[in-house]
Amino acid sequence: MIQVKQLVKSFGALTVLKGVTLEVKEQEVVVLLGASGSGKSTLLRCLNFLEVYNEGEIWVGGKQIDPQKTNLNHFREEVGMVFQHFNLFPHKTALENVIEAPIHVKKMNPAEAKALGLELLKKVNLQDKADVYPDMLSGGQKQRVAIARALAMKPKVLLFDEPTSALDPELVGEVLQVMKQLAQEGMTMIVVTHEMGFAREVADRAVFMDNGVILEQGPPKTFFENPQNERTKQFLGSIR
Ligand code: ATP
Ligand code: MG
Repeated sequence: MIQVKQLVKSFGALTVLKGVTLEVKEQEVVVLLGASGSGKSTLLRCLNFLEVYNEGEIWVGGKQIDPQKTNLNHFREEVGMVFQHFNLFPHKTALENVIEAPIHVKKMNPAEAKALGLELLKKVNLQDKADVYPDMLSGGQKQRVAIARALAMKPKVLLFDEPTSALDPELVGEVLQVMKQLAQEGMTMIVVTHEMGFAREVADRAVFMDNGVILEQGPPKTFFENPQNERTKQFLGSIR
């Protein structure tokens, strides 16, 4: 589904991704772990072309994505992203947030978009919040609206960048539950998270980034119980 080959990304003199190679198969759930500053967000942002990388290749669905030749707005329909801080439009209701892109980017007719929006709000257990503005929602509810909004574009892949890190602890579970359900339905996902319970339970593979490279990866059970690399052991020790 996604292939990243020798990706390099620098900000000025600072090289943040130093040759990242990663393959994610259809329906696979990959959890991306690593210390602060190791390059996790930058990798996700490059995958969605929110950042333009300097070297390497990105392939999605068997096609190489050339940012010069590809319509990036169209491409971003296929690769959805959920951010730590939700990024909802404050002056739009939950439903309006979900159907904004289908109407304006996909040119879906408003009645059809509304039906889709309501269905997706139901999927994230927010059918009763359709007409509510973000200000009146809890963090967990806002994040579930953001997930419904990403799903509205019918993406092939969903990228999550610390989707529960800004939430009060008691709201984390409801968001993880929705993500787990998506995983069970076969959504291909790359998730940056510090929720090790989620990683162990839901991920097919854990990938550990350190200082701009992937140091170690494997099935969660092996990865967590028997890490090979010293840096991985240190990292896992520090978060336990
Ligand atoms: P965290 O766990 O704290 O979110 P991360 O693994 O997501 O960390 P990145 O956000 O990818 O790390 O950042 C990697 C490095 O790139 C950091 O040193 C950061 O300061 C730098 N960086 C990220 N974005 C930019 C930018 N737009 N301009 C300059 N430097 C940046
Ligand atoms: Mg980050």
